[in-house]
Amino acid sequence: MLKGKKGLRILFSVVLAVIVAAVAMITENANVDHVTVGEMFIDFVDVGQGDCTLIRTADAVILVDAGEAGTADTVVSYLKEKGIKNIDCCIATHPHSDHIGALYRIFEEFSVDTVLLPDIPDELIPTTSTYEKFLDGLENVKNIIPAGAGDDFDFGSLNIDVLGPVKEYDDLNHMSLVSKVSFGNTSVMLTGDTETPAETDMLKKRNVDYSADILKVGHHGSKTSTSEKWLKAVNPQFAVVSCGLDNDYGHPHKSIVNRLENFGVEYYRTDLEGHILFKSDGNEITLIK
Ligand SMILES: [Zn+2]
Repeated sequence: MLKGKKGLRILFSVVLAVIVAAVAMITENANVDHVTVGEMFIDFVDVGQGDCTLIRTADAVILVDAGEAGTADTVVSYLKEKGIKNIDCCIATHPHSDHIGALYRIFEEFSVDTVLLPDIPDELIPTTSTYEKFLDGLENVKNIIPAGAGDDFDFGSLNIDVLGPVKEYDDLNHMSLVSKVSFGNTSVMLTGDTETPAETDMLKKRNVDYSADILKVGHHGSKTSTSEKWLKAVNPQFAVVSCGLDNDYGHPHKSIVNRLENFGVEYYRTDLEGHILFKSDGNEITLIK
């Protein structure tokens, strides 16, 4: 009898050890702390006047822009705090310093598999030192893919549907990569600094599902983005404006704040609230902070 109980105890210990090892392996593979299978976290990192969005699941990490070089330490520390060592995909929406300025540090500090960037016309290629640094940093990246509307990528349980730009423009903001990142039945629309002419051109395309649960408001809430038609097409539950407190541009513009309110969208601003974090269970998104 006693022998039998001891045997059971040993069996139980072995089963427990196997479960612990399996969980440890999943965590190790994920390379990400605090995320379990079936969850997606979306961080709008407060980088002042700029954009930086981090999307994490148990099996993939996507970083969309990283703000100015001056706030690189904030982003690097945050990613390290979350246990991130490898970034599956960085989206560099467009080569302005408030979006790509800190990316060279990201390429130095983390292993980055893929960078998606817009296929910008030669005459718009910047000659700034920020862009030079970005290009130098790209030498550490395995795959560099110029992307555009219609491209589709899978990283673990995350899907990136590139929706814009749908054509070439003579303005870098309009050339911003617009991506819908989906996890299960939930999604986030990331717009960079795309403005209304590019929004309007996207909407001319038929049979494209522009709806998303969260909208990163275009161009830091400038009045030249987030048209009524675009907002109606995305039809988000939540919106986030990423901008600096008392910035020189007057972002977000009052008309855009009013538009979000009139549409009944729950919106948050990094200038007033700092870091903003959402969580998805694959069906529903909730605000954590
Ligand atoms: Zn910008």
